[in-house]
Parts: sequence; structure tokens; C-alpha cells
Amino acid sequence: MEKLTNRSQLVVNKKMTFSERIYLPAIFGGMWITLKHFFKKSNTVSYPEEERPRSEVYRGLHVLKRDDEGKERCTACGLCAVACPAEAITMVAAERIKAEEHLYREEKYASIYEINMLRCIFCGLCEEACPKEAIFLTDRIVASEFSRDAFIYGKDKLVETIDNRIDISKRQVFSTGESMQPQNTIIN
Ligand code: SF4
Ligand code: SF4
Repeated sequence: MEKLTNRSQLVVNKKMTFSERIYLPAIFGGMWITLKHFFKKSNTVSYPEEERPRSEVYRGLHVLKRDDEGKERCTACGLCAVACPAEAITMVAAERIKAEEHLYREEKYASIYEINMLRCIFCGLCEEACPKEAIFLTDRIVASEFSRDAFIYGKDKLVETIDNRIDISKRQVFSTGESMQPQNTIIN
């Protein structure tokens, strides 16, 4: 038969030597390798106590931003959901009433806004599609969970709180140092 490559080798069922038959040299050889690793610097990172450094432009957990006055910027236009290739975003739009003017920036807002983190591929297309600069990816990591339902993040986990703004300015900077955002963008 014609060979496709010259790498094929003939298999020989040669008899095992005495040391191969008693297995002890192989066992001690394996233990020696294990022992050597005890004295080597470990490459294991004890997450979450310890974290590996990440790039400043790392795309992680999303944030739904508020404006300067603390009102939610999202107007439930749905463009992020349309742009999402993983179909990870769902929302329900609602009309703002007069008493809610201090909560939502425009007449329409998302009463429900959910991202399925198991579907999300952190591509950032939702961020690019948003005309209101309401959604951004941050350098935060999505936490491990025990159930699939816990990975569906609602507004309680996505909207930033007024007294704990999420700084996204680092991720919005090109490696050249130039800002990706227009001059008048509110990013804190
Ligand atoms: S980062 Fe990409 S995959 Fe994740 S929600 Fe946004 S558009 Fe969808
Ligand atoms: S996050 Fe932006 S794109 Fe998505 S619904 Fe809200 S305003 Fe529209």
C-alpha cells in the first residue's frame, strides 16, 4: 500500500525486559516527576482570592449606565437585542409616567432587561449598536453560579447604582491612548 507520509512506523510486539515487567522503575520515574513539581513555582491561580491581570480592553460583564442626574439611559429601543448574534438580550419596554421622570431619561424605558450570560459571547456588538450610550461591557468577570437560571442577569445586576458608578473609561481607550468615545460622552 502506498504511504501518505513517511512518518508511519512499523509496530513491533517486542518482549518486555525484566525491569519493564516489574513496573517499579516506571512507578519511581513517575513519582520522581511528581516530586519535582512540589518544588516548582505553581502556575495555578487561586481564583477568586487571586486574579490574573487582564487587558484594559477586556470585555466582561455588562453595565447599564445612568446619566449625570442618575436617570437610566436605556430607552428600550431594542437595537442591542437586534445586534446581538447570540440572541442573549431580551427586554420589555414600558411608558414612563410623570412620577418616574427622575428615574428614566426618556418617555420609554426597559421595565425588564435581561442578558443570558451563558449565551453571551462578549463580542461587544450591543455596546456598538446602542444609540444612547446606555450599555457597555466592563472589565468585570461574570461570577460562577450553580444553576443556569442564575446566569440570566436582570436590571438588578446590570444597572449601575447611583452611589457606585462603574468606571468604563479604561475599556473605552484605544491602545494608542485615544478615547473611543465622542468628547461629550458621559462615562462615569
Ligand atoms: S456582548 Fe455580544 S453576545 Fe453578549 S449580549 Fe452583547 S451583543 Fe450579545
Ligand atoms: S441598551 Fe441601548 S440599544 Fe439596548 S435597548 Fe437600551 S438604549 Fe436601546
